Amino acid sequence: MKTIAVIGTGYVGLTTGTSFADMGNQVRCIDIDEGKIARLREGILPIYEPGLQEVVVRNMGTGRLRFTTSFEEGLQGAQFIFIAVGTPDDGSGGADLSQVRSAAKAIAETLDGPVIVVNKSTVPIGTGDLVTSIINEHKRSDVTFSVVSNPEFLREGSAVVDCMAPDRVVLGSSDRDAAETVAGLYVSLRCPILITDLRTAEMIKYASNAFLATRISFINEIAAICERLGADVKEVALGMGYDKRIGPAFLEAGLGFGGSCFPKDVNALMRMARDAGQHPQLLGAVMDINRDRRRWAIDRLRERLGSLEGKRIALWGLAFKPNTDDVREAAALDLIDLLQAAGAGVAAYDPAATETAGAATENVDFCSDAYAAAKGADAVVLVTEWNEFKNLDLARVKTVVRRPLLIDGRNLYEPATLTELGFEYIGVARAPVSLAESAVEMVLRD
Ligand code: NAD
Repeated sequence: MKTIAVIGTGYVGLTTGTSFADMGNQVRCIDIDEGKIARLREGILPIYEPGLQEVVVRNMGTGRLRFTTSFEEGLQGAQFIFIAVGTPDDGSGGADLSQVRSAAKAIAETLDGPVIVVNKSTVPIGTGDLVTSIINEHKRSDVTFSVVSNPEFLREGSAVVDCMAPDRVVLGSSDRDAAETVAGLYVSLRCPILITDLRTAEMIKYASNAFLATRISFINEIAAICERLGADVKEVALGMGYDKRIGPAFLEAGLGFGGSCFPKDVNALMRMARDAGQHPQLLGAVMDINRDRRRWAIDRLRERLGSLEGKRIALWGLAFKPNTDDVREAAALDLIDLLQAAGAGVAAYDPAATETAGAATENVDFCSDAYAAAKGADAVVLVTEWNEFKNLDLARVKTVVRRPLLIDGRNLYEPATLTELGFEYIGVARAPVSLAESAVEMVLRD
């Protein structure tokens, strides 16, 4: 059993701390947000993350998981201090490191024994050295410490599972012993553990996110070409994905990626490249394609409805992906901006993200369910592929809309089903109904 402090109780910090507690360690989670800590102490989670609440409450019950706003209390006796604070876009494409700097300073001012500081936040290459220099500047002279980079790869929506069964753990440090000691925290997870240097570990995180974002923009570019040439991108992705060299993941064409990671991390990587004198040719295209995907939905609406002035458009889904309440950089927020700029009224429903979207938007008619959002709508746009939307009574939806126009921004529905129900259905690069259906049947039969 180890004593671990985790600084920051957002998606990453809370899940990491809770998972370490569940593995039998003593964990104290520290956050400067007093409201968040007060709610956590009562077992109320500040975020929606499937399965997390139960594990938090269970580990609080055993006394292994505690929450505090006090660095003195939180860091006392800790053998490991994980930094899991936010590193948002600084407004110019770079990563804002103010939370990391302030966490490092607070660690230095509180430190009273040897410790390993582990950085889990996604930080620009070289930040490990920055954390080292901040701690050196502010710590008591006799206190020793090491810094290890341990980038996090969990996905919102499946954070608990990802933390307990990661594909790999990456550790980077100039102090090999420290990295191996951190590796000891993860051995029970039985996954590959890669130990490398600080900068390489930091880069592995950016390169991974940039690659995944590139796959999404790649298939979206293919979708745009398919639309011109009459091919079905869903079948194209299926056919590509069977190739073991390619694989099926992250080949869903749609409204593009969002969230707190991909856009900011690709931008930050571009910024690092430029600052280092390397023009990031591919990454710029990845971001441009992604921006254009939001416009795709608006273009389809204009094609069918003409001017959007005074039209009521219903959005199904606000979260940047299913199973989360996170709307940071969500496609829905861009669509709301574009629709409102075009004079349309927006009604919206999301199973979990109404509150977070409410804080990020104005003049949106948030509804209690998908039917209420669709009521009187000139068009419905499926923005987030929540399971709930798959199981809707679409015949009922048809009776409440003003016009049965459905823009399926995530290719959630089968064109034939929607067409049979009498919808004007527009998916992303879907072929004429009969062809696409027979292609799927053939694949299944084989
Ligand atoms: P978040 O914004 O949800 O949470 C950050 C938390 O840190 C907040 O609760 C904030 O109050 C707290 N905080 C800020 N400054 C602090 C300080 N000085 N001391 C104590 N607490 C402080 O962020 P997140 O989504 O959990 O992401 C954290 C980091 O992990 C980011 O670098 C992000 O890029 C990276 N990451 C995120 C995900 C994800 O899916 N969200 C996945 C992998 C990596």
